[in-house]
Amino acid sequence: MKLKKPEMTINGEIQISYNWSPGKAGERFFRDLRDHMKIMGTRCRKCSRVLVPPRIFCEECFTDDMEWVEVEPKGTLATFGDCYFSTDGKRLEKPWILGIVRLNGSNGGLIHYIGEATAEELKIGMPMEIVFKEQREGNILDILYFRPVKE
Ligand SMILES: [Zn+2]
Repeated sequence: MKLKKPEMTINGEIQISYNWSPGKAGERFFRDLRDHMKIMGTRCRKCSRVLVPPRIFCEECFTDDMEWVEVEPKGTLATFGDCYFSTDGKRLEKPWILGIVRLNGSNGGLIHYIGEATAEELKIGMPMEIVFKEQREGNILDILYFRPVKE
């Protein structure tokens, strides 16, 4: 069945705000980030993997035998790329650099903005550190961005 193309369309935009529960592990992660500028992960007592972002179970071992551990706000750049579109799909004049940083002492990584560097200055495996927001609110943007560690 072929659909008939409408004779008229009206262009519009819908901005949607919403609330979501970050869950048991996410709530603790965001509270410690907001209140103490700490990056918390969970360690599986069976396989010793440290998960950041934290989870309340290890999907490798199928266990919830986890403990909370603090992870350094430093890590290594696993990958990065330029992003030419904003979160609402608008073309950016100057691209953002987004990257994945594997935090020291963890088996995970955080996807976030990279700041204080150009893409040409970045290298996979280089040491990175978190720059925290001054007035934190309890969400991932309490991390302003990662930047290369200055020697
Ligand atoms: Zn495990």
